[in-house]
Amino acid sequence: MHRTNTCGELRLADQGKKVTLSGWVQKVRDLGHMVFVDLRDRYGITQINVPSDNAKLYETANKLGREFVVKVTGTVKERESKNKNIPTGDIEIDPESITILNQAKLPPFKIEDDTDGGEELRMQYRFLDLRRGPVQRNLALRHRISMETRKYLDSQGFLDIETPYMIKSTPEGARDFVVPSRMNPGQFYALPQSPQTFKQLLMVAGYDRYYQIVRCFRDEDLRADRQPEFTQIDCEMAFVEMEDVLNTFEGLTKYLFKSVKGLDMADFPRITYAEAMKKYGSDKPDIRFGMEFVEMNSFAQNKGFVVFDNAELVVGINAKGCSEYTRKELDALTDWVKRPQIGMQGLIYLKYNLDGSLKSSVDKFFDQEALQGWALAFNAQPGDLILVLAGNVEKTRKALGELRLEMGNRLGLRKPDHYQPLWVLDFPLLELDEESGRWHAMHHPFTSPLPEDLELINTDPGKVRANAYDLTLNGVEVGGGSIRIHDRKLQARMFELLGFTPEQAEAQFGFLLGAFEYGAPPHGGIAFGFDRLCALLGGTEIIRDFIAFPKNNSGRDVMIDAPAPLDLAQLDELFLAVKPLDKG
Ligand code: ASP
Repeated sequence: MHRTNTCGELRLADQGKKVTLSGWVQKVRDLGHMVFVDLRDRYGITQINVPSDNAKLYETANKLGREFVVKVTGTVKERESKNKNIPTGDIEIDPESITILNQAKLPPFKIEDDTDGGEELRMQYRFLDLRRGPVQRNLALRHRISMETRKYLDSQGFLDIETPYMIKSTPEGARDFVVPSRMNPGQFYALPQSPQTFKQLLMVAGYDRYYQIVRCFRDEDLRADRQPEFTQIDCEMAFVEMEDVLNTFEGLTKYLFKSVKGLDMADFPRITYAEAMKKYGSDKPDIRFGMEFVEMNSFAQNKGFVVFDNAELVVGINAKGCSEYTRKELDALTDWVKRPQIGMQGLIYLKYNLDGSLKSSVDKFFDQEALQGWALAFNAQPGDLILVLAGNVEKTRKALGELRLEMGNRLGLRKPDHYQPLWVLDFPLLELDEESGRWHAMHHPFTSPLPEDLELINTDPGKVRANAYDLTLNGVEVGGGSIRIHDRKLQARMFELLGFTPEQAEAQFGFLLGAFEYGAPPHGGIAFGFDRLCALLGGTEIIRDFIAFPKNNSGRDVMIDAPAPLDLAQLDELFLAVKPLDKG
C-alpha cells in the first residue's frame, strides 16, 4: 500500500497511529542528532523526524534530495516544537521505514510557495511549477467555480451540450485558427472563436436552455494576458428577453460569489453604453469610485483659449485631495497623458488650494471668477485638483478614462477586495472601421437591434443600438451577450450591411439562415470569460495563473515548444508543401 493518509491530514488526535505517507521531499534538514524531512503532496506537508541512532534510516534520510518521491511508514507523534503555520504543525512521524520510490534531479527552482524561479523558467517546467501551493490553490479554485457553475445552471434547467471544435468560421472579431483537412485537399476547418452559431441552432432545435464550459480559439495579436485558447461559460436561452438573461446570469454571479467567497452581493446596477462613455470614458467602467467626468464646453469655451475653443470636447475630473501636487508631479502627469498609448497634446489643471485660492495652468485666459465656476461645476473643495483634457470626443473621453483609472490607483480607490459589478446595456450595433470605411458588428453579426431603432438601419446605421449587454466587474469585462436575430430577412439585411454579398452570406452562413426558416424561436444568450472570472474571484487579474498549461505572450507553449514546424512529408500529405518554383 502506498499510503493510508495524505500529507495534509494528520493532527494531534491521530497520535499513536501507525500510518504510511507518500509524497515529494520538500526539504531535508540534518541537525546532527536527527534529520527532519518535509514530505509534501497536494494536501499539505508533514514532518518526518529521523533519529540518527537508527543507522539504516539515517543513511536513507541523508540520501534524499529535493523532490525525491518517497514512502514513509511510522507512528504519529506530538512534536516538541510546534509549527503554528501549517495545519499538521503539531505532529510529526517517527519512521520505521523509508522507501525511495523514485529519485529526482535537482529542480531548476524552489518548489515552495515563494519561489526563486522566473516566469519563463517556471513555464518551461510547468509540471514542477504546478506542484507549488499557490498554483494548486488556484486550480482548485477554478475547479470549485466550475462545479458551482454547473450546479447552478443545472438547477435552472440548463443542459450541458457539447458542440464541435472543427467547424467553419464564426465571426467574433478575431482571426480563425485553421486545421487543414487531409481528406479534402485544399480545404480547412476553423476552430471555433465561440460556439455561437451552434448554440443558436440548438435553440432552433428546441433545447431551450443550453450551457457549456467550453474552449474558444482566437488568433489575435496578443495583448498582455490574452490566451489564444481560453474558456467561456457559454449559454443560450429560448423564449427570453434581455431581462430574463440578465436575471439568470446576475443570479449565477451572485451564487458564485456566495458559494466561493461567502460574499453577498447587492443587485447589480446598470448603465447604458452612451452614459458609460460620457461619465467614465469606458465601456467597462470601474465604479468602485466616483470621479465622474464633468463636461466643460458650455463654460470653458469662447474665453480666448484656442486649445479649448478648437476642441470638440473639454472635459475633466476632480482628483480629490491632490491640490498639493508639486510642479514636478504635474509635469509627470502631463507626460503620462502625452505617451503614445494615451496620445493627448497636454493636460490642464486647476488647483483648489487648501487656503481657498485657485491656481490654474491657464490663468491667462480664466480669471478667478471663471475658475470659481469650474470649481462649482466639479463640486470641488479646498484640497482638490481638477484635471482637464480637450480634443475630439472619442479620443478625449478614452484618455480621460485612463487618467481616471490612474488617479484611482494613485489614490488607493480601487480596492481589490471590493467587488463592484455593473451591467452595460444598449451598445451600438455597428462600428465604422475607419480604414476600410466598412461597418463592423460591435458584438457579432447575430445580435439583434433594439426594436425601437430598427427603422434607423436603413437611414443611419451608426445610430442603431443593439439588444446587447456586458457584465463588468471592477472595470474588467466578465462577459457579454445579446438577444439574437431570429428572422431570416433581418439576418440577411445584417450581412448585407456588413458588406457580404448574398452569395457570400449564403456560402458562409447558409446553414443558419436556412434554419431560421424552420421555426426559430426568439432567443438570446451570454458568455462569461471563465479564466478571467477565476482570476477575479482569486483576487488577481492574471489569467494564466488560473490555467494549468497556459501560453506565453507570444502564443507559445514553452514547455512542449509549440507551435513547431512540420516535416515535409506531413505538409505534403496535407497539401501544404510549398513546391519549388519551376525555373524557365
Ligand atoms: N458568442 C459571444 C462571445 O463569445 C457571446 C454571446 O453572444 O453569447 O463573446
